[in-house]
Amino acid sequence: MAAALMQKASMKSASARVQKASRTRTVAVRAGKYDEELIKTAKTIATPGRGILAMDESNATCGKRLDSIGVENTEDNRRAYRELLVSTPGLGQYISGAILFEETLYQSTSTGKRMVDVLNEQGIVPGIKVDKGLVPLANSNGESWCMGLDGLDKRCAEYYKAGARFAKWRSVVSIPAGPSTIAIRDCAYGLARYAAIAQNAGLVPIVEPEVLLDGEHDIDRTLEVAEATWAETFKYLADNNVMFEGILLKPAMVTPGAECKNRASPEVVADYTLKLLTRRVPPAVPGIMFLSGGQSELEATLNLNAMNKTPNPWHVSFSYARALQNSVLKTWQGKPENVPAAHQALLKRAKANSDAQLGKYDPSSESAEAAQGMYEKGYVY
Ligand code: 13P
Repeated sequence: MAAALMQKASMKSASARVQKASRTRTVAVRAGKYDEELIKTAKTIATPGRGILAMDESNATCGKRLDSIGVENTEDNRRAYRELLVSTPGLGQYISGAILFEETLYQSTSTGKRMVDVLNEQGIVPGIKVDKGLVPLANSNGESWCMGLDGLDKRCAEYYKAGARFAKWRSVVSIPAGPSTIAIRDCAYGLARYAAIAQNAGLVPIVEPEVLLDGEHDIDRTLEVAEATWAETFKYLADNNVMFEGILLKPAMVTPGAECKNRASPEVVADYTLKLLTRRVPPAVPGIMFLSGGQSELEATLNLNAMNKTPNPWHVSFSYARALQNSVLKTWQGKPENVPAAHQALLKRAKANSDAQLGKYDPSSESAEAAQGMYEKGYVY
C-alpha cells in the first residue's frame, strides 16, 4: 500500500517536472544582439508593393540558363547577366531584396562597383544563399536532405561583413516519394538550426521547405503534405528559439501536382494556400515570400494577386527566380545592345508582381509568352 502510494507520488512529481520543463521551454526568451536589426531588415523586405528577386542560382544552374540562350557559362558572362539584373533602373520600387549566390556577393560590375553597393543604392537589401545543396537521404524513399550546417556560423559572419543582411536555405519535400517521416523531420530540423545560426549572425533567415510540384496528386494532397511540413517546421523553429518576428517564409503555393489532370484556378490556389498559412503560420511572422516553382510568369502573378484580394496578417509577396527572370533572359540573348530591353522586361515582371502584392494586378497587357509554363520534372536549383 505504502509502496503504491510512493510510486503514485513519484509519478506525480515526474509529471510536474515535465510540465515545468515544457513551461520553461515555451517562455524562454531569446535576446540576441541583432534582434532589433533583424526585425528592421525583415520589415524592410516586407514593405507594401515589394518582393524579392531570387538570383541565387548555383554556377551550374546559371550555366543551364545561359545555355538556353546560347551564352557560354563563364564567370564573365554570369557577371554580365547578374549586373544586368541588379542595375535595372528603378528596380527598387518593386524589389526589396535580392538573393545572391556567393560568387555575386563578392563580385563587382564591369565598371568596378560592388554588386552589393549597386543593390544598396537602389534600396534593395542584399541576401545570400547559404545552403550547400541537396544530396540523397539514406534509407528514405529516394528523398534528399540539405547540406550546409557545418561551419555555417563562420560563413554567415563573413557574409554579413560582405554586406548580406538576409539568408536563404532551401530544403525540399517530395509528395510522390511519400513523403517519409524522416524526410519531413530532417527538412524541418535543418531549417530550424540554420535559422537560429543565421539570426545569431545578423542575417534574417528565409525559411524554405519547398513542397515540390512534381507528381499527379490533387490539390488536397498538397495541402495535407504542406500542413504536415509546416507543423514540423514551426515546432523546430520554436524549439530552437528562433525569433519569429525576424524570419521570412518562402513556401510553394498549394497547387495540384504538375501532372495532375485537374488544374486549379487562381482563386482555388489562393483559397488553399491561405488556408495552409492561416492554419500554420503565426501572425508574428512578417512576410510570406512565395517561390514560383515552375509556374509560368503569368500563373505565378495571377495566383499572388488572388491571395491579396483580402487583407492578410502577414505581407504576402514573391521571391521568384524563374517567374521574374525568364523573359529577361530571352530578351537579353547575351547581347549588349539588348540590355535596355532586358531591363524593361524585368521591370515589367517586377511591376506586375508588385501590383499583385497589392491585389491590383491587371493581366490584360500580358503576352502569350508569359503564359508558358516552366515546370521541369526533377528540377535541381
Ligand atoms: P523559383 O521561383 O524559380 O522556383 O526559385 C525559387 C528559389 O528558391 C530561388 O531562390
